Parts: sequence; C-alpha cells; structure tokens
Amino acid sequence: MRTIHLMNEALAKDSKSDVSEERIIGSIEGLQPGPTVIVLGGVHGNEPAGVRAISSVLDTLKDVESPIRGQLLALRGNIKALEQNVRYIDEDMNRIWFPSILQDIRNTPESQLQSSERREVKQLLSVLDDINNQSESPVILADIHTFSAEGWMFTITSSDPRQRKLLSNLHVPMVFGIEKTLRGTALGYYQKQGFISFGLEGGQHTNDMTAYNTTASLMLLLQAVGCIEEQYVDELKEYEKHLQSHTKYLPTETKLIYQHIIEPGDEFRMRPGYKNFQHIKKGEWLASDKDGKIIADCDGYILMPLYQDQGDDGFFIIIEHEG
Ligand SMILES: [Zn+2]
Repeated sequence: MRTIHLMNEALAKDSKSDVSEERIIGSIEGLQPGPTVIVLGGVHGNEPAGVRAISSVLDTLKDVESPIRGQLLALRGNIKALEQNVRYIDEDMNRIWFPSILQDIRNTPESQLQSSERREVKQLLSVLDDINNQSESPVILADIHTFSAEGWMFTITSSDPRQRKLLSNLHVPMVFGIEKTLRGTALGYYQKQGFISFGLEGGQHTNDMTAYNTTASLMLLLQAVGCIEEQYVDELKEYEKHLQSHTKYLPTETKLIYQHIIEPGDEFRMRPGYKNFQHIKKGEWLASDKDGKIIADCDGYILMPLYQDQGDDGFFIIIEHEG
C-alpha cells in the first residue's frame, strides 16, 4: 500500500479496518479543497496494466512540489482475479452493480457471500459508500480497463455534456452508448449516483504502450478537473503531446450501433487480425459461431473484438457521432 498523505477520517474509520491493505493502491489528500477523483483498476483480473498505470500516476505525484487539490483515491478491483490473471473467479465483477444486488451484498456478512466477486465488491463498497457526493466539488470515477485485441484506446461514457466537456481534454476517442447496453457496470451505477463516471480502455492487455497511454490519460484527467496544475507537473506537456499524436487519425466522438452478444455454447470465434477502430464494411465476414458465419450488417469501426475465452461480448460496431 502506498499512502502519500494520511487518508481522511471518513476513510480511516474503525469499520474500515477489514479492508485489506491491497485494496487501496494509494490515496492523496490535498490540502486545498477540490474534486474527489476515484480511480479503479483491475476490476477484471487479467487487466493488470491499468493497476500499473495508476501506481505510476501516484509515483509521479509523490515528487510534485505543490500538493493536489481535492482527493485522489486509487483502488484495486478484483484482487483474487488479479492474483490468478483471470478476468474473474466466479462471475464478471463489472456486471453485478445493480442496486438490488449491491443492497444484498451490503446486508450479508462477507463470509456468507458465495461469490468471490461479491466479497470483493463488499470491500470496495465499504470504502466507496463513504464518498460524499453532496459537496459542491464534483466526484469523478475512472474505471480502468484493457482489451484483448490490438488497437487504439477509448473511453466509454454517456453523451452527457458535462462528461463530454471533461473527457475532451484527454484526447482519447469517446464511445457513447456502450454504457447503456452493458448492464450492471460500476460506471453505470455511479453515474446514477451523480458521479462523473467513465470507463477508460487503455489498450491491449499486454501491449507495452497500454500502461503509458493510461497513465497519460489519467494525468490529463487530473489536470482537467483541477487537481493538478501544469506548472507543477513537468510531464503533462509530454503526455498531452503523446495522446494527441497517438489518437490523431481517430474520430473524437463515436456511438455504438451494434453489439454482438455471445450466448453460452455459441462457440464464438472472432476471425484473426481485427484491431480496435479498424474500418469494416457491411457484408464483411467478422466471426463464426456454431450457426456459421457472422457478417457485419453495417459499415463502421470495429471495437473490442474478443480474442480471449472469458467475456460475453464478441465485438461492437461504432460510427462517428455527429454533433
Ligand atoms: Zn475490463
């Protein structure tokens, strides 16, 4: 655990003593008021690059002269799955954030929760439930992920103007609409709680660039919300330049038009070689399953073609969002 300043009292209460030290990647409490930024990494255990990126953000901030405004709280999502480098142990941890399930998790002692992921969520809630969303300063939740195909990074966000304005500072393509079709996600739940919340998909799981892309985006996020200032953090210019050039041929705003859901027993197989944001044409043969060929029914960009065993979404198709 990396504690740079002491955690605030709300987080250090006695009842939190059962939260394992591994859960908190780090926490910085600023001396001046400001936004609360929560960064969640490794909700999927086979996506450790996000956790590495978060650690490197904390390392960078450790050396910054002027403390941040507000608070930065970085949490590890699925500790057991991270240890085993699998997406999940019993169930997908990013598909169970429904109010009814969460209430059940809160009301059930940890030892009686049957699924590993629900025990992990209970620990996260014991920290997150204390975050005060009633103050004037915004609360921002960034849920960090990576994906199995090669290709460019993006954010999953609603098209709410407040979110669009903030995320436009990151120079990372925004994808609207996925947040509605993926049900039970942490980002969807916290959006309903009034947080600014989005998913950051930093790149391919094991690509060397992924952690750097994610670090750069998080640093620009901290700058955009007013937690850190350019004059104190030398690296910000470099991060901005990197992301601008990395994403320069990509559309700024896109929206979902097709999602291929895999049913159990489908024997889904993506055809090899597809990358995030690759152009596809209507009629193109994208994948196969037990019923035969899966053909694109529209032009667009392919997103998150699935090249791993665990996961329920075969691929998404997005198009540029106008206006
Ligand atoms: Zn993920």
